[in-house]
Amino acid sequence: MDFKRVAVVMAMEAEAEPLLEAVGARPADAPAWAAALPCKLYSAYEAGLELMVAVGGTDPFTGVDCIGTQAAALATQVAVSAHAPDLVVSAGTAGGYRRSGAEVGHVYVAWPRIVCHDRRIPLGGFDAFGRGEHPVADLRATAAELGMRSGIVTTGDSLDESTADAEAIAASGAEVKEMEAAAVAWVARLNEVPVTALKVISDLVDDPAPTPEQFAANLGSVVLILRDAVKALLDRLGPG
Ligand code: SAH
Repeated sequence: MDFKRVAVVMAMEAEAEPLLEAVGARPADAPAWAAALPCKLYSAYEAGLELMVAVGGTDPFTGVDCIGTQAAALATQVAVSAHAPDLVVSAGTAGGYRRSGAEVGHVYVAWPRIVCHDRRIPLGGFDAFGRGEHPVADLRATAAELGMRSGIVTTGDSLDESTADAEAIAASGAEVKEMEAAAVAWVARLNEVPVTALKVISDLVDDPAPTPEQFAANLGSVVLILRDAVKALLDRLGPG
């Protein structure tokens, strides 16, 4: 499976920085129509691949990183339009679950789908739209060779897990909880580009320690694991 042009979509600057440095990425221009959008584009060559990294950017109204689905959807469309990738990768940190054997630092590649857990719309047809189930590229073999796990990735726009979220996550069988992948997957699918998600566990949702505390304590180390995991995946997927 040889890819030639890959777009990696990331939410937080802290997540992207080590990767950008490792691949020697340089800032790239966004299309003129995207001038008002906060996302930032970078380009690099890695393992014979033409790589574009799209980062959510800074929210001009609150001054923090644009995490979550809105900015992820915009960044994905900008990257797809600017780069015409043959694979889109949603890469970042995520919550994992002790009950599925996850530990901080474990790396997951999405399989067989990416879903949503906080879009509850009990109206005919809209319930399936709300669940937003999107198929992903089959990278199971590559993931296994790299010692990465495979599992369903679930997306919502909150860091916490409400009771309703927990029920939806248990029902979907998801093992990886984060805030962007389903938006990235939806936009990639609209553009008929294969998509995957690569997520490093930064916190354990079913651990008594509060998620924000775990996330803050682990972010510095997991972004280095994230850098190495994205690079390792690209090295396998590219022509060499
Ligand atoms: N509050 C943090 C930033 C947000 S954490 C800070 O102060 O730096 C949320 C980001 O990490 C999102 O981009 C999301 O995709 C990911 N994430 C990590 N763990 C998560 C979890 N348990 N639930 C949801 N998103 C999580």
